[in-house]
Amino acid sequence: MNRLKHRVALGIGTGLVALLAIIAAVRLFAPAPAVSISYSALLIELSAGRLDSLVVVPGREILAWRGADRIHAAYTAAEVEPLVARAMTAGTAVGFRSGGGDTRSFALIGAVLLIAAGAIAFRHRLGGPSAQTDVGTRSTSRTTFADVAGNGGAVSDLREVVSFLQNGEKFARVGARAPRGILLFGPPGTGKTLMARAVAGEAGVPFWTISGSEVTGFIVGLGAMRIKSLFRKARRQGGVIFIDELDALGAKRGRNQSHNEDDRTLNQLLVEMDGFTPLHNVVVIAATNRPDDLDAALLRPGRFDRSVAVGLPTSAERKEILGLHVRNRRVPLEAGVDLGRLARLMPQTSGADLANLVNEAAIVAAREDAVTVNWSHVESARDRMLLGKERSGFEASSQEWRIVAMHEAGHALLGVRWCPEDPLHKVTILPRGQAMGVAFFAPDSDRHLHSRRYLEGQILKGLGGRAAEEVLFGADQVTSGARSDLQHVTRIAREMIYHLGMGETAGLMVYDADAPPSDEVRALMDQEVRALIDRLYQVALRTVRKDQASLVALGEALLEHETLDGTEALAILTP
Ligand code: ADP
Ligand code: MG
Ligand code: ZN
Repeated sequence: MNRLKHRVALGIGTGLVALLAIIAAVRLFAPAPAVSISYSALLIELSAGRLDSLVVVPGREILAWRGADRIHAAYTAAEVEPLVARAMTAGTAVGFRSGGGDTRSFALIGAVLLIAAGAIAFRHRLGGPSAQTDVGTRSTSRTTFADVAGNGGAVSDLREVVSFLQNGEKFARVGARAPRGILLFGPPGTGKTLMARAVAGEAGVPFWTISGSEVTGFIVGLGAMRIKSLFRKARRQGGVIFIDELDALGAKRGRNQSHNEDDRTLNQLLVEMDGFTPLHNVVVIAATNRPDDLDAALLRPGRFDRSVAVGLPTSAERKEILGLHVRNRRVPLEAGVDLGRLARLMPQTSGADLANLVNEAAIVAAREDAVTVNWSHVESARDRMLLGKERSGFEASSQEWRIVAMHEAGHALLGVRWCPEDPLHKVTILPRGQAMGVAFFAPDSDRHLHSRRYLEGQILKGLGGRAAEEVLFGADQVTSGARSDLQHVTRIAREMIYHLGMGETAGLMVYDADAPPSDEVRALMDQEVRALIDRLYQVALRTVRKDQASLVALGEALLEHETLDGTEALAILTP
C-alpha cells in the first residue's frame, strides 16, 4: 500500500515540476512567425532537442518554440501522453493553455499532464521501457517472456529467435537459414513491443528501436539516413532491431506522388535487410496493425518472411494477463476479488487495456485511502475505462431522469427477455462519458459465431430504450437519447443483410465491395434492412407493453438507487 501512495506522491511531485514549466512556457506565448508541421515531425524535432518549449492547446493544436520560430502541429488526444513522455526525456518544458476559454478542458488536460508525468516518473524509476525514447536508440532490455501472459503461439515462435541470437553459429554450421525478419501483426496493445523487448532481454543482447512514423513524412533524405545509421550500429554490436509501426514506412510504394520521399526510406530498409550475413547476430522484428497495407517487397524471402499473428486475448488469457500485472506491480488485491470474473467483464480488450485496468484500480483504492484493492475499486476502474468517466456538474431535470431511467430499464428488459446468453451485469443512470445511463451486459464466454436469433436479440436489446420511451410517454415524446442505439441497431441489421445472407429477398447473395451490386440490388438490400428493424421494433413494443409493470418498477428503483447490479435488476424484472 505504501508503495501505491508513494507512487501517487511521486506523480504529484513531478506534476509540480511540470506546472512550473507550464508557467514558464505560457510566458513565452508571444506572437512570432508560425510554421505548421506534422505531429511526427514535431516528435523528431523534440527528440533532437531542438525545441525550447511546448504548449498543448486542448482540442486545437500543439504550439512549440524553436528559437524565434513558432511551430503549430495538429494532434489527437491519444498523442498527448507520448508527447509529454518525450518532452520529459528531452528536458523540454511542456505547458497547457486554455483553448477558447473552456476551463473544463483546460483542467482536463492539466489532469492528463499530471497523470502522464506521474506515470513517466514511475517508469523512469524502474528503468522501464519508456526510459528510452530517442529515435533509433539502443537500450538494454530487462523484459523477459515471464512478463508476457497469453500470446502462447507468438511466444513459442519467438523463443526460437532467442536461441538463434544466442548461438547463431550452430544454425550456420548446419546450413539452417536463420530467422532474419519477423513481422508481428495484430491490434494495438496486444504486446508486440513487449515481446520484441522480451526477445532481447532473454537473449541478453542490445535492443534497438525505431518507429516507422519517426522516419517518414518529412525532410529529404533524413528518414533513409536514420535507417542506415541504426542498422550500421546494430550490425556492429548485434542485437534485436525493433521497427514499430512498419506500415508507416512500408506502405505499398508509388501510390501517390507526394510520397516519393517515403519510398526512399523504404528502399533503404530493403537494402539494409539484404545486407545481412549470418555472421551478424542481428534479428529484425517489426510490428504493424495493418499487414495488408505493406509493400510486397518487404515480405520476400530473406526480409520479413515470417509473420506471427498476435490477437486480442481470450477470456482465459485476459485472466492470466490481469494476474500477471497484479503480481508484477504487487497490487495488494483482496482475496475475494475474482480475476476470472473481471476478465469476463472486459470483452474485446487488449493486454494494454488490462494492464491499465490494474493500474486504475490501484489508483481508485489509493484515492480512497484504502490499504487493499477490493472488488468495488476494480469495478469502478472498469466502468471508467469502458463507459467513460462519471460526469460531475451535470444537471438534468427530474423529467429527464425519469425518461433516462425508463429508457435504460427498457434495454434491460429486452435484453433479459430476448438475449438470455448475455447476462445483465448492471444498470445505471449515473451519467458517464456521452451517455446519461447504461444497461451493461456481459457475454460469459468469447463468442465467435453468432446465430440469427442472437443477432436479432442484440437488435431487440438496442431498440428497448426507444420502445420504452414510446410506450410510457407517447410517440411524440420520444427523445434524442436513442441516437447511438439506433446507429448500433442499423449497423447490425446491415451486417446481417449485406454480409451474412440472413435476408429474405436478397437471400444468400451478399455485398462485395470489389464487384458492387447494381443500384436495384442495393435498394432491395436497404429495404430489407429497414423491414428487419421495423419488424423487430414491433416485437420490442409488444414486449414492453406486456411487461410494462416490471419495467416501470425497475425504472423507479433506478431513480431511487441510481445503480443496480445485474442480480438486483433481474429480481425486479422476473417477479
Ligand atoms: P503493442 O506493441 O502490441 O501495441 P505493447 O507491447 O506496447 O503493445 O503493450 C503495452 C503494454 O500492455 C505492455 O507494456 C504490457 O504492460 C501490457 N501488455 C500487452 N499485452 C500483454 C501481454 N500479453 N501480457 C502482459 N502484458 C501485456
Ligand atoms: Mg507497440
Ligand atoms: Zn439507449
